[in-house]
Amino acid sequence: MRSTIHTLNFGRKMEDIRNILKKHRLRITEGRIGILQYFLDEKKALSHRDLEFRFNELDRVTLYRTLQSFTEKGVLHKIPSDTGNVTYGVCFDTCSPQVHQHEHIHFECMSCGKTECIDLDVPELEVPGYRVTEKNFLLKGICSDCSEN
Ligand SMILES: [Zn+2]
Ligand SMILES: [Zn+2]
Ligand SMILES: [Zn+2]
Repeated sequence: MRSTIHTLNFGRKMEDIRNILKKHRLRITEGRIGILQYFLDEKKALSHRDLEFRFNELDRVTLYRTLQSFTEKGVLHKIPSDTGNVTYGVCFDTCSPQVHQHEHIHFECMSCGKTECIDLDVPELEVPGYRVTEKNFLLKGICSDCSEN
């Protein structure tokens, strides 16, 4: 397990959002600020459909391109799911346009349906005779918000 805890990009103010875009070499546009703000406010993985619903004034191509450049530059990463519905999560502070690593755990809540990025490393797994190049680790259960009541 990782010993240092990295801070999530969550809960940032407007100035910080501009800085995140700058740090990741992305041009600052209203659309990008709005989309990133939405991710930070929601604190969970979001799907294309969530974004289309929230940003219905944006055309689909702009939305698609924004998600694509965020994914390329280390702002968002794709989270696979067994339903085939791709969602996107905000990267940890350690991601940059050069280094983009997501060997952390994802947690899907069976009660509220949200998927979250958990800052815990995926355990080392050796598969004899196989070379592992990527690890996806999805846990399912009840999230901390849902288990409180
Ligand atoms: Zn990343
Ligand atoms: Zn939940
Ligand atoms: Zn994640």
